[in-house]
Amino acid sequence: MTALDAIEHDGTEVEAALRQLHRRHDCHPSHLAWAEEAVRNFLAARADHSIEYASDGQAPLPVEHAWVTVTDLAAPDSRGALRYERTAWGRRYTSADGRVREIWLLSVNSVKPRTDAEIAEAAAVAATGVAATADFGECYQPVKIRGTLPGRVRVVAVGFGDGSRTVLADWDAEEAVRRYARYAKPVLARVIEADRVNPGSACIDCEGLTSCSQPPRTPFLLGVNRPHRPRRRRSVSVSDLRTHAACPAKYHLTRALHLKSAEPESSAIRRGRAVDAWLNEQHRARRNCRTALLPDTLPGLTTEETRTAVRMIAEHAAVCPLDGLPPTEELQVQARLTAYDPELDVVVIADPDLLYTDSGGWVWRETKTAASRPWEGRPLLEAFPQLALAVLMMAAGVPGGDPRRCRIELELLYQDGSACEELHPHDPETVDEARRVISALAGPWASDETFTTAPGRGCTGCEALRWCGPGLDHTAGS
Ligand SMILES: [Zn+2]
Repeated sequence: MTALDAIEHDGTEVEAALRQLHRRHDCHPSHLAWAEEAVRNFLAARADHSIEYASDGQAPLPVEHAWVTVTDLAAPDSRGALRYERTAWGRRYTSADGRVREIWLLSVNSVKPRTDAEIAEAAAVAATGVAATADFGECYQPVKIRGTLPGRVRVVAVGFGDGSRTVLADWDAEEAVRRYARYAKPVLARVIEADRVNPGSACIDCEGLTSCSQPPRTPFLLGVNRPHRPRRRRSVSVSDLRTHAACPAKYHLTRALHLKSAEPESSAIRRGRAVDAWLNEQHRARRNCRTALLPDTLPGLTTEETRTAVRMIAEHAAVCPLDGLPPTEELQVQARLTAYDPELDVVVIADPDLLYTDSGGWVWRETKTAASRPWEGRPLLEAFPQLALAVLMMAAGVPGGDPRRCRIELELLYQDGSACEELHPHDPETVDEARRVISALAGPWASDETFTTAPGRGCTGCEALRWCGPGLDHTAGS
């Protein structure tokens, strides 16, 4: 955005803006390599779009200020609010005569799906918003510029990663306002009325966290002390820690910045996901898999992959936790669990495949599909660190229940068998072992400030290889 602002608002030449970008010291080198590609992809998408919509007769001009639609009330409403401001984040353009406005909604990788409500809201803000600026935490103030409200608005989605572009709306202003009333207004009304707490990775940007009831406070959960230098609050999952242990640069690019190239996923990952999706659907409907009909096809898998996946699903029947589960017990499929370590200022996130109650305690079930038995000979908690985090979270009282009645189950599914291992979060030796495994992963992560590449076998097929100099050198050499 900094580079595009320089190009579009300050008139800096593209190459000069990119050179400025590469002089920054506050970004990872691979981040800058990605950003250069992203800027070029975006500008190419803009150029193609301008040719397609050349019938407007005028090149659209970039708009620096936000568009803001303000509703001022005569008296405070039931929430005590006197004013509502609606904005839409993206990049903005207008025809020279001001009759056409476009708002471009941005995605990091490819164009992503948007709801009718999002599209209608962006279009309505473009149709009715006035150019305005605001300091942080202050009301927007209109900017004195000439111009009128537009007769036509477009909402365009663009993916920085691949330059993909889709026109989501091309409406006259009345249509945008109509769609806002129909699709967006009910959603916004629900949002401002809602008082439910929804802890998750968004807690890292929340100013209310310190006075919030969620996430549960679990000091020293990761077994790591506060780093010497204070840093921004972060969230972390076991997948983050494992990725960081494999390659800090890969962690930074794919887990912190969410960048990914269009590399196809491995067969094992797709197969595992298809098995998970099928099981989750059964469990959500509270169906016992022992009596379920096996699927003939699974979305996204080849015939050969389907055959293997279906054999694994068949093996699950013998260990399905719903088999014999009384209807009075609770069941949650892929519930998000969070915990907050105030010492480290880190929100810890876990998504158990299945949570269910058993006589007053919670059971945390993780299901893994595997072609072979790779963990044998290694301690279970080391081979599957998400189990170690499960032990620590349950020992700290997340998700709740009587700790002596809580347990963790690891379900392993092969083509030719299944196994179910049990772990107990009230067993001190298990907790010590779990603490050792997690702090060994979390310690280097918590103190890392440079995220250097660890070139190795993982470089081949890495989603971030495209922007990684050391990784490209390594793969070229081998
Ligand atoms: Zn089942």
